Amino acid sequence: MSKRFDLGGKAVLVTGASSGLGAHFARCLGEAGASVVLAARRADRLQSLQAELAKKGIQAKAIDLDVQSGESVAAALDAAGPLDVVVNNAGISIVKPALEMPEKDWDAVVDTNLRGAWLVAQGAAKRWAADKRPGSIVNIASILGLRTIGQVAPYNASKAGLIHLTRALAMEWARYRIRVNAICPGYIETEMNSAFWKTPGGQKLIDRIPQRRIGQPEHLDGALLLLASEAGDFMTGSAITVDGGHTVNSL
Ligand code: NAD
Repeated sequence: MSKRFDLGGKAVLVTGASSGLGAHFARCLGEAGASVVLAARRADRLQSLQAELAKKGIQAKAIDLDVQSGESVAAALDAAGPLDVVVNNAGISIVKPALEMPEKDWDAVVDTNLRGAWLVAQGAAKRWAADKRPGSIVNIASILGLRTIGQVAPYNASKAGLIHLTRALAMEWARYRIRVNAICPGYIETEMNSAFWKTPGGQKLIDRIPQRRIGQPEHLDGALLLLASEAGDFMTGSAITVDGGHTVNSL
């Protein structure tokens, strides 16, 4: 591997590291040499991931984080210590027709996916600017921030907002040597959704993806390591789509 992708000596915080893509990102970044701060609400899951990483010689610490709370974000960033990279991965979706979506569900989704990512990014950037330390923020958006599907209006809107927030922060913070980029994954198989891909509905969806398959978490590793490391040093304000061609399918 090129030295420029090497994360040796770097400290990376991953939000929502207790499951799915977040846990995978922590493994991937740790295997590239980083020490990893695992931040989420489910302490038991974080502790078992920490133990798994320790067995591989990866330094990891688990800290409590609820991205919906500014107080929790500040406490987590203080507990994390000096960081080089932040991966804003925590996210939720609530599936309901837009006409029936209650205000509280809108708030939960937008407060986690957009406001939460903003609080973590701003908290990290304040610390980097004060310490005159460069940093990289990787926001995990979605192809649903670029195109839409039904029944998840707040999710679509929050991910579109996150992509544009990425651009706004990249512009403002370049002067502090803080890079801000996003990854827009297509449909990726995780423990939460793996049963669905075997159903007729799941197969119908796969048929609309030009590569005729859904992604695996490892398919995001290239974009993640590029944006987190020196290899992506001249990149800021980018949103990299990793979707097997889903967003360029035929209209
Ligand atoms: P997941 O539900 O397994 O992971 C989401 C994580 O976020 C969980 O660990 C959860 O506990 C955490 N989280 C939720 N609310 C939180 C809060 N308030 N504070 C702290 N942590 C919180 O789902 P996933 O598929 O691994 O999704 C990870 C990210 O990737 C999300 O942002 C999601 O929108 C995005 N994404 C996923 C896919 C996919 O197909 N899996 C596609 C595009 C984007």
